Amino acid sequence: MATYSNILVAVDLSPEAKAVVGRACELRKSYGAVLSLIHVVEPILLGGDYELAPAMPVELEDTLLQRAKGYLESLAEEMNISDVERVVEVGSVKHEILRFAESRGCDLIVIGSHGRHGVATLLGSTANAVLHGAGCDILCVRLGV
Ligand code: AMP
Repeated sequence: MATYSNILVAVDLSPEAKAVVGRACELRKSYGAVLSLIHVVEPILLGGDYELAPAMPVELEDTLLQRAKGYLESLAEEMNISDVERVVEVGSVKHEILRFAESRGCDLIVIGSHGRHGVATLLGSTANAVLHGAGCDILCVRLGV
């Protein structure tokens, strides 16, 4: 039987995130696993010239990072998991989730089927990308249908 010891949960800032984290918490309890929450801030390209425009002004990046950290902190508090590691990275959502999972030896990634991109497809773009790139198991929590 599969057993998991190191679970990573991908958290966007949508109201559905609680359902995804809730499922990860159940698994954490069942397996006695370590749990980490990750949120990725995607750089916003400002201006039309990719060569000259900074990917994102430092102040804006700081604001988004602080907002994400605050969100993860209050979510963890609300869900009674203030002891879990909370990670905020800047970059491509798929790459940062996969990079963190690999670097920490995570054996399960819990992710929502859909987020802010809606339910037009069976699997949202992030879940699909992570599913195809991961070297560990993925649990996709069905949302919004
Ligand atoms: P989406 O691709 O927007 O439909 O999102 C599907 C799922 O991917 C969400 O339910 C989250 O679990 C995860 N996800 C989306 N965006 C992020 C993000 N910026 N950081 C971490 N996880 C994310």
